[in-house]
Amino acid sequence: MREMWQERFAEAPDCLKNVRRHQTSVPVLDFAIGGGEFVTMAGPCSVETEFQLMATANHVRRAGARILRGGAFKPRSSPYSFQGLGLEGLKMLARARQESGLAIVTEVMSEEFVPLVAEYADILQIGSRNMENYSLIEAAARSGRPIMLKRGLVATVAEWLRSAQLILDNGNPNVILCERGIRTFETAMRNTFDAASVALLKQVSHLPVIADPSHASGRSELVPALARIAVAAGADGLLVEVHPNPAKAWSDGEQSLDFSAFDAMMAELEPWLAVCNRGASRRAKTHVRSLVAAG
Ligand code: PEP
Ligand code: MN
Repeated sequence: MREMWQERFAEAPDCLKNVRRHQTSVPVLDFAIGGGEFVTMAGPCSVETEFQLMATANHVRRAGARILRGGAFKPRSSPYSFQGLGLEGLKMLARARQESGLAIVTEVMSEEFVPLVAEYADILQIGSRNMENYSLIEAAARSGRPIMLKRGLVATVAEWLRSAQLILDNGNPNVILCERGIRTFETAMRNTFDAASVALLKQVSHLPVIADPSHASGRSELVPALARIAVAAGADGLLVEVHPNPAKAWSDGEQSLDFSAFDAMMAELEPWLAVCNRGASRRAKTHVRSLVAAG
């Protein structure tokens, strides 16, 4: 790796590639993130009702997702907005996991809830607003669960990697980085998707990188295009918000895909994954094999 990157990311030495470690593969259930397979995490912004969650879980699984996302503890821009169902939401996620076989990623917002959320989640999400909440990050790291660390709203790549380093320092090697857009002068979209950060991280870091086109754009119609860009930039997977009826979603409806838009996005990604020589879901692999067999 170029010396300039080593200097720039000097506070995160263990996140950088070296002769012994080129790529971390984070084990989840019977698969891995960063192990070559392109992994899609999909589901509602917030867990709302049993019906909403089960319908979404069953649908996204059939479309090739491996992981169900859904917030039970929600960091909202306004303290007066819906804050999540808490424990009731975690229990719904557990039932969805059992019924669908999908792994669960969900956010933990405070240190005191780490043991509870870790009981229900396969992956703990540290949200953007908490990317520099070091006591929360340390507690989450020590739970032993894989951690998905979202990039802070105004965090540089170096600051983001410094938080990832803290997780490694606490004995947890299973760190997944998630680029979810940053604040810039542009206001037409909710955030600015930093595709270059994905490309950079794939060059300098061995940690898997997930792209979140939903929070990056804030607009459902932009999500498929950003997903394709993420594949081209080398992302290891996607985090996408999906809701049975986005117009009625309790949070982030304007950026959530409905079921048919999610199906279309997943189908459209397959040739892009094939071009980038990336395996996707089993369904996508079978599809690519049938294309090859057909000559
Ligand atoms: C979320 O994933 O629903 C979320 C709140 O994300 P972020 O922390 O990136 O805003
Ligand atoms: Mn959201």
